[in-house]
Amino acid sequence: MTELTGTLPNPQDTHTFGAALGRLLRGGDLVLLTGDLGAGKTTLTQGLGAGLGVRGPITSPTFVIARVHPSLGQGPALVHADAYRLGGRAELDDLDLDTDLARAVTVVEWGSGVAERLGEDRLELALHPQPDHQTRTVHLRAVGRRWSDEDAASGLRELLQVARRAT
Ligand code: ADP
Ligand code: MG
Repeated sequence: MTELTGTLPNPQDTHTFGAALGRLLRGGDLVLLTGDLGAGKTTLTQGLGAGLGVRGPITSPTFVIARVHPSLGQGPALVHADAYRLGGRAELDDLDLDTDLARAVTVVEWGSGVAERLGEDRLELALHPQPDHQTRTVHLRAVGRRWSDEDAASGLRELLQVARRAT
């Protein structure tokens, strides 16, 4: 298991971090985003979508359970979901999203608590606003075999560099 911490001083840094993460992801990956309302989860997902190269706009999934953003190129689609209304991965499958989750990148906001039920291989990202209300601290936890090989681990370390550069 890999655990990393970085600093994201402003919204653009959060977007840049998300974009770097998006370039790292491939079909079947699962990302769980936690953090209070306004912590930057959607901002990060927007960057992630840009890095992945999917069709926007990515907005807070407030009124829908999940939204599919198809790839603009040959890459995987992005499934952006609101875990508040989600009991587990089976339910996500049940939504009949017209997208194969094994081939898409899935990002779930507010994943805390449902994480274990959603997948064994996952990236858990927690965003914590700092007292200045601008800076966010990002904690990344990579769980499962997907993230245990050297390539994946070094990719994650580079990701941390992005967040560090932002300081
Ligand atoms: P969430 O999806 O977690 O509710 P959003 O991404 O929708 O959060 O909103 C984050 C808000 O906080 C945006 O208005 C954004 O401009 C602001 N913000 C300020 N600093 C940051 C930062 N470092 N990272 C992300 N958002 C930030
Ligand atoms: Mg949001």
